[in-house]
Amino acid sequence: MAAAPPPPLNRIDAFWHDGMLNHDTGWGVFGFRSDPGFLDVLEKHPENSDRVRNMVSILKRGPISPYISWHTATPALVSQLLSFHSPEYINELVEADKNGGKVLCRKTFLNPGSWDAALLAAGNTLSAMKHILDGKGKIAYALVRPPGHHAQPSRADGYCFLNNAGLAVRLALDSGCKRVVVVDIDVHHGNGTSEGFYQSNDVLTISLHMNHGSWGPSHPQSGSVDELGEGEGYGYNMNIPLPNGTGDRGYEYAMTELVVPAVENFKPEMVVLVVGQDSSAFDPNGRQCLTMDGYRAIGRTICSLADRHSGGRILIVQEGGYHITYSAYCLHATLEGILDVPDPLLGDPIAYYPEDEAFPVKAVDSIKKYLVDKVPFFKEH
Ligand SMILES: [Zn+2]
Repeated sequence: MAAAPPPPLNRIDAFWHDGMLNHDTGWGVFGFRSDPGFLDVLEKHPENSDRVRNMVSILKRGPISPYISWHTATPALVSQLLSFHSPEYINELVEADKNGGKVLCRKTFLNPGSWDAALLAAGNTLSAMKHILDGKGKIAYALVRPPGHHAQPSRADGYCFLNNAGLAVRLALDSGCKRVVVVDIDVHHGNGTSEGFYQSNDVLTISLHMNHGSWGPSHPQSGSVDELGEGEGYGYNMNIPLPNGTGDRGYEYAMTELVVPAVENFKPEMVVLVVGQDSSAFDPNGRQCLTMDGYRAIGRTICSLADRHSGGRILIVQEGGYHITYSAYCLHATLEGILDVPDPLLGDPIAYYPEDEAFPVKAVDSIKKYLVDKVPFFKEH
């Protein structure tokens, strides 16, 4: 009988609190909380509590469970939010909560219970980062909702109120980290995080996303390749808009050709991976066609970058992912990659789409050519 493979050397500290389930986004025609009366069967808003309940359960009962330790944290204090958000914006949210709720922007509803959940999401993400900064663990995962990466310093957007990852990055910088990289693989542009550090050269923000462009007043950023940062931050924001159907090999190519060289030159002391499983092949909000294998490969790449630069320190922050089953499975696969387990622990129950890598390869090559021409540290590589 063959010997059992060696167990992974690492473990993941997951931060979670049941109170985040109390953010009730309602029912309607998908993300719209209205019913024009055409349908017999309405569905929950895509950002609902079922999606994260499955993420919690697969990590507690799936084959990765022995490698995960569970923690919980208290809500963030309003004073802690001001490291990323403006006082006026936070005041607007506090007032909205006191008044029984508010539609902050399209499909983004602050309902009774939402603000407490948002404070728990921020608090758990800050505690996950603090856990790493205090040397209690190298890899921490903030399993949080409502999500955060669209929340800008002064504006809610795309189901997001507080920028959980951005707050954690600020905590790392304030604790002495000199350079932090954020790699965002949610299918949507991480515009809030990008906006928060747009003029900073101590945070390299990288977002791989579908090419959806701006989507109205709450999301003025285009996510296009020419949004490079401003002032000292010029060159430290990298947008990687990818064509629909990019798939596993296309993402791997984008990681190898764009993300890895940028991170190698930047030499971060902390790695933040912002994960959204809405870049999967079956998500109702995206068309990027990643499967569990693709997520596993991204996790491995992030793990090796962290080993080389940040002493293995990685904070993972949960964002979107709206297929109730596949999001949980893809999360499991991502964390397998982060742990660098030699063989997959969990099979893919549904992946079957054929891939055509020709178009994504062309897109990545053209983005690379653009960045080499424009960005000083890309030229040096
Ligand atoms: Zn998303």
